[in-house]
Amino acid sequence: MSTDEFQIIQRFFNQQVYQHHDVVLGIGDDAAILQVQAGQQLLVSMDTLVEGVHFRASDTAMDIGYKSLAVNLSDMAAMGAMPAWITLSLTLPEFNEAWLKGFCIGFFSLAQEHRVQLVGGDTTRGPLSISVQIHGLIPAGRALLRSGAQEGDHILVTGTLGDAACALDLPEAVLAQSPQLEAALHRPVPRVQQGVALRGLASSAIDVSDGLLADLGHVMTASGLAAHVDCAKLPLSVAVLERVDQAQAWHYALSGGDDYELCLTVPDDRLQEVLAMSSQSLPFTPIGRVQAGQGVYCYDADGEQLELDRSGYRHF
Ligand code: ADP
Ligand code: MG
Repeated sequence: MSTDEFQIIQRFFNQQVYQHHDVVLGIGDDAAILQVQAGQQLLVSMDTLVEGVHFRASDTAMDIGYKSLAVNLSDMAAMGAMPAWITLSLTLPEFNEAWLKGFCIGFFSLAQEHRVQLVGGDTTRGPLSISVQIHGLIPAGRALLRSGAQEGDHILVTGTLGDAACALDLPEAVLAQSPQLEAALHRPVPRVQQGVALRGLASSAIDVSDGLLADLGHVMTASGLAAHVDCAKLPLSVAVLERVDQAQAWHYALSGGDDYELCLTVPDDRLQEVLAMSSQSLPFTPIGRVQAGQGVYCYDADGEQLELDRSGYRHF
């Protein structure tokens, strides 16, 4: 490690106020030491953000810092886990103090809000890329899996779908005038609290990162069942419907990406409890049912099956 790297770590990444109670040893040694309490399981997940793929060169460092952690928190939410610790692998083209400061504001404000501690990482030089690994905890056996959906379950989603995909399609000057869509794209809110509250109620869960069709498809594949989605029930925001017609809004909701809402399946006898979690600021919307079969089928308001070509964003 060079002095440059050492100074970057000291100045920007070793300044956290928040200390998670289970950290025996954080940043500074060759590895962190973390104490997992008896009866808890450790969940580990990682997401990488690459310039030009996951964010634009014009995005602010603050937004990139925020989102690099938000997408990881969202994976913990989808498991019903409580996030605890994070590590950060940062590849930077140059030492840019203003960029690093902005990144840290976005990253650590969200870390603090969710009471997660940065316990280590790696800092190297190269094309801009940010990898965050997140570690979460859950009482043994209680995680929400993709494989848990059952025939007859209701399919629900949190929030509204398609906002981020719509935002991506707008010219930047127009987007700047739509705070709600801009926030959906740059400041997705990970549904951690809701994920934890869904333990024991939802039979399966996933976060919608690559579009509902693709992600619900993963759940159905893992569960060996079919999803039937009533598109008229898809929760669409006023902000999207003000800009595009319904067919385009459905397309964004089904095949867009970057929503970071939860999609869950819920047995009939648990539906009321889950719907009681719904609020005006975060609705839980039933959009369909799970049946025998395989795949995801979508219907319009007349019950006609939709022909769908794109099943969400694929990297390869
Ligand atoms: P080593 O050479 O032993 O791999 P490093 O120089 O990579 O050690 O890192 C020194 C310490 O700083 C380690 O505790 C490491 O986890 C931490 N660290 C390095 N980069 C980051 C970063 N971007 N964010 C948080 N911690 C970091
Ligand atoms: Mg290292």
